[in-house]
Amino acid sequence: MSKILQVEHLVQEFDLTQDLLDRVRFKDGRFTMERPVVHAVNDVSFDVETGEVFSLVGESGCGKSTTARTVIRLHEPRSGRILFEGRDITHIPQKDLRAFRRQIQMIFQDPYASLNPRQKILEILTEPILFHGLALGRAAAEEKAVYLLERVGLSAEQAKRYPHQFSGGQRQRIGIARALAVEPKFIIADEPVSALDVSIQAQILNILMDLKDEFRFSYLFIAHDLSVVKHISDSLGVMYLGTIVERASKRALFSNPVHPYTKALFSAAPTIDENNINQSQELKGEIPSPIHLPSGCLFHDRCPMAEPECASAVPALREVEQGHFVACHLVKEGNAEYKRDERSAQV
Ligand code: SF4
Repeated sequence: MSKILQVEHLVQEFDLTQDLLDRVRFKDGRFTMERPVVHAVNDVSFDVETGEVFSLVGESGCGKSTTARTVIRLHEPRSGRILFEGRDITHIPQKDLRAFRRQIQMIFQDPYASLNPRQKILEILTEPILFHGLALGRAAAEEKAVYLLERVGLSAEQAKRYPHQFSGGQRQRIGIARALAVEPKFIIADEPVSALDVSIQAQILNILMDLKDEFRFSYLFIAHDLSVVKHISDSLGVMYLGTIVERASKRALFSNPVHPYTKALFSAAPTIDENNINQSQELKGEIPSPIHLPSGCLFHDRCPMAEPECASAVPALREVEQGHFVACHLVKEGNAEYKRDERSAQV
């Protein structure tokens, strides 16, 4: 398989003060300049193979959505590289972004915000098809739009309605159809089912998987619900405070989570694994502020395994078994187990 997306050492920060004067501080009899910054994404790297579903998972605010939005250039990256089909798109100019964005489409948690309330669904779907020249004339574009609507479980009759006339689940189906309308190769799905009822969630997930097989695209899937990512993913990255702490295939990650944070996250979801994770491991403390990141391992304040070196040395994301990457000082290479088995048993 070839890599469709490569993300290398991605960094995203947001200035809290835009105004230069707001940055001036008077301290110890002197004026100094401060630049308070939210460190949203901190050195994130991952690949997505063609045809693969790669999921980023983690608690709210861990940086997974910001990572996705930076990949699609809704936010300009501070540093790092983004390659799509081998082409460096990190800094392609705005005028070239249109073609690139056709290839990568995004499905949002709330599709209603991105549906024009004054347009009927048929127009919403037909417009991008015509704009990108993906049909020979309006009649062919409308035919394609109706096919897509039917493919996501809606009818041609419903194409004549406005967005407010649909339920949340139906609007998400429309959002999916609109993403498909421009024939993308890659879909970024940002919490696409988290606002829906559980019964509707399963239907939408099944549609996403069926469409993947039919249209042969790849996914970057963003979710905080482990049962959802377990259902849909081929491989996953677990994020904490803007970094990936563990990355592996679904099988490896769910059968042998290694990083202390992954273990705690998984154990908080009692239904995810009947074999290996059976004790809840409550994390102590609060998630640190992304404005003032901890030194060393970002997880050290809350980690039950922390050693003195963890507060000063940043653990690199290392391959500990083939395809299984972990950022923890206590994990030895060649074996995704802790150095100290007796301590591992306590986590
Ligand atoms: Fe815990 Fe240290 Fe590993 Fe960080 S590096 S996860 S603090 S043991």
